[in-house]
Amino acid sequence: MEKILFDTHCHLTDEGYDDGREDLISEIERSQIRYLVDIGTDLESSERAAENAARYPFCYAAAGFWPGNTTGLGDGDLAGLRRILSMPRVAAVGEIGLDYHYEDTDKESQQLWFARQIKLACELALPICIHSRDADDDTMRILKENGAFSKERLACFPPRADGSPDARVLLHCFSGSAELARQYVRLGADISIAGPVTYKNARKTVEVVQTVDLSRLTAETDAPYLTPVPMRGRRNLPVYVEHTVRKIAEIKGISYEEAAMATLENGMRFYGIKE
Ligand SMILES: [Zn+2]
Repeated sequence: MEKILFDTHCHLTDEGYDDGREDLISEIERSQIRYLVDIGTDLESSERAAENAARYPFCYAAAGFWPGNTTGLGDGDLAGLRRILSMPRVAAVGEIGLDYHYEDTDKESQQLWFARQIKLACELALPICIHSRDADDDTMRILKENGAFSKERLACFPPRADGSPDARVLLHCFSGSAELARQYVRLGADISIAGPVTYKNARKTVEVVQTVDLSRLTAETDAPYLTPVPMRGRRNLPVYVEHTVRKIAEIKGISYEEAAMATLENGMRFYGIKE
């Protein structure tokens, strides 16, 4: 099997896989997946993601506090995160960001911890995976205010092949407008496309894929959530990233292999994976 796929965002440690994690791993090993990144959402899942990265050659990890898990965190938690980020094959800070979807959300702690984790990623010169839901303006503002696109940060990473700056900021499961995607790309960020691009109501995200240059796009599953068509209705799996890549290929008018290779290379560059 030719290994040409990169799932840049999934959750192997999610309790949704507790009943069959070994099957999940062997399915990944038999598939076209070359790499995936197991994303942490708190200290425990980040540490387990780091363990998976140490165990499986296809796996890298990201560590961070997802916005819904920031209430009540203290300095000890930041120290714990710093420790996990120093482990081998922990390649990024994430997922971090803002989620204003639910009304009772604790915006104050979300914003505080988003800022603290951006600063930590800048200090450690690590890539950042962003979760942003119903929070477009604050996400952009807090990223800018905390140096995510600063000269100092851009100087940490080599420029792209076309000479444009690389901020190593990835907007996970991007759900914003094509105009917002353009703004992020101009700042040096990349856009990650997930399963919803295959849904009937995906007009906005289809437009994002049309607008953004292929060199700025990665593909992801966010598994076990957001299962792409035609698998929708089942639990999502990293191997289903194929369907999102096929959709990107269709929108861009290129072959599946070309879309797979481009999103693989973009993911490797973003996470700093060298072979
Ligand atoms: Zn996620």
